[in-house]
Amino acid sequence: MINPTMRGYGAEKSSIREISASAAGRKAAIGAANVFDFSLGNPTAPAPDEVRQSIERALTLPSMQLHGYTPAVGIFEAREAVAASLNRRWGTDYAAGDLFLTCGAAPALVATFKALAEPGVGDEIVVIAPYFPEYKVWIECAGATCVEVLADQRTFDIDVDAVAAALTERTRAIVVNSPNNPTGAVYPERNLRELSRALDEAERRFGTQITLVSDEPYREIAYGVEVPWIPSIHDRTIVTYSYSKALSLPGERIGWVLVPPTHPEHDALYEAVAGASRVSGHVCAPSLFQRVLADCVDVPCDVESYAKNRDALTEGLSALGYEFVEPQGAFYLWLKSLEPSASAFCDRARELELFPVPSDSFGCPGWVRVGYCVSYQTIVDSMPAWKSLAESYAEAS
Ligand code: PLP
Repeated sequence: MINPTMRGYGAEKSSIREISASAAGRKAAIGAANVFDFSLGNPTAPAPDEVRQSIERALTLPSMQLHGYTPAVGIFEAREAVAASLNRRWGTDYAAGDLFLTCGAAPALVATFKALAEPGVGDEIVVIAPYFPEYKVWIECAGATCVEVLADQRTFDIDVDAVAAALTERTRAIVVNSPNNPTGAVYPERNLRELSRALDEAERRFGTQITLVSDEPYREIAYGVEVPWIPSIHDRTIVTYSYSKALSLPGERIGWVLVPPTHPEHDALYEAVAGASRVSGHVCAPSLFQRVLADCVDVPCDVESYAKNRDALTEGLSALGYEFVEPQGAFYLWLKSLEPSASAFCDRARELELFPVPSDSFGCPGWVRVGYCVSYQTIVDSMPAWKSLAESYAEAS
């Protein structure tokens, strides 16, 4: 008497985790310096000092204040601080009551999908492939179908014509993730405005509403390009955010959902997010880190360390003749596989102790994701292995 669907999700192996486990095995066998693990998205920039100072201050609070339950939505001070920070940045008029604090972006997305989709009626949620693989699990568990639409295969921006063709009267939402995991693309404003028009047009055609879900855990990691604020472009938008990458706090589990007041169903959607969090067993986000948020919302992310890695990787790989999408944000490089099967390419890479992730895991064939949230030295030291890998294909042809 065990739910087979849940058992299936539990038993299913995450290829990213498997690759990382296999790299860990090789590190134990031959030494960490000889293994180049580009599999995970675990930020390597240290959490800023301000976070430690805020924790130390919080530790002096009375126990109930520090460790007690908070309101399910999160403490007012933290939500107010986030709203004020967004208002400074975007000239908006958000309030604490538009924000719901969560244990990172993952439960923020789970609550959002559950809030938007109704199980059993055939609702669909569109994702732009390649995409973060957990989206599909969360969408299906919200009772909806995950509809994959391939990104523009040259720029990896949104292929708006392909999205328009995939929208139906059953579409409830579309997920946009910029800066993007896994491609490193940052969608330009023009692309987002075209998408907004396509969504408006589909709503008119079908007499339905389609919410744009903007998943933004990498917002702060961008290399000299502007990351447009989507609620200022498209009214029917909800934002999910996380401090996992921005403040290097992935294990602390802190983030939020923003239902902007410009969303035409603001009140109902906010209540539905609260309800969906409630049924998922959400009580409150970690109270210590809610207090850290109240202090640290404006602390900048250490983008420089990732920029240095990005430059070393792109310069090194382009000198070796590899083809890739120039990363504009996040800490992933989207590299063209040197053979049609990305899995076969990754198997050959592994023989040289290189561990990228094949693109099939992200719903798109023929590429690999190289996560460069590693030490700078790892990137420099990996270059001879990348060279041997390229040469092994050149010799075969
Ligand atoms: N969305 C994307 C695109 C991600 O890459 C991740 C994590 O890697 C998440 C959501 C989940 O982030 P969090 O650690 O905040 O749950």
